[in-house]
Amino acid sequence: MEITGFYSSANTQSCPIDEKPEYAFIGRSNVGKSSLINSLVNRKIAKTSSTPGKTQLINHIIIDESWSLVDLPGYGYAKTSKETKAKILRRIKEYLTQRGTQLIAVFLLIDIRITAQKIDLEWMQWLVKNKIYFIRVFTKCDSLGNNKIKNNLLKYNQQMKEHNWGKLPETIITSSIKRIGNNEIEAKINELNKLFQNI
Ligand code: GDP
Repeated sequence: MEITGFYSSANTQSCPIDEKPEYAFIGRSNVGKSSLINSLVNRKIAKTSSTPGKTQLINHIIIDESWSLVDLPGYGYAKTSKETKAKILRRIKEYLTQRGTQLIAVFLLIDIRITAQKIDLEWMQWLVKNKIYFIRVFTKCDSLGNNKIKNNLLKYNQQMKEHNWGKLPETIITSSIKRIGNNEIEAKINELNKLFQNI
């Protein structure tokens, strides 16, 4: 993966105008989104939570001049004001609903260490309602043993069923530290890029 461009946009209208397929990464603030993106592209391009003034912009990272990873602002950060939270939500939802057919899929990141959070479940429901294809990506799997990962996943799925989920979404388990799951994400993107070419 070679980075061939980078654009930060304050709103959907100012996002790069091209017909390239793109893949958006969303998740709660601190879920490990920047770390995962940086480990995928092998460069420190996404700003991690420890970066002062981490942007709340829509960041397009163009790969191989042919497709983009889109780093969306994290949601649900406890310390931001109600107004800022609402603004970020509007920005993310506007992008997801107005970007059009070039937005191929959303990778929704979830911390494997904790139980299902209301805000993440609500996001998944929102994506379904808006007919946006998404893949569940669990992060930080290096921090748990294999049995615990399996148990947490089972519990998570159980919680989703309790919220009336039918077929569970596709799932990828990752660790940016150990670079686990990167190949799976890349393979998924390659597969979808091929489909996009055939449209
Ligand atoms: P973001 O706010 O979603 O962009 O999250 P960051 O990438 O900034 O990461 C938030 C925190 O989680 C930081 O303290 C990271 O060191 C930690 N973190 C990120 N990825 C991993 C991972 O794969 N494993 C572990 N154990 N910690 C991680």
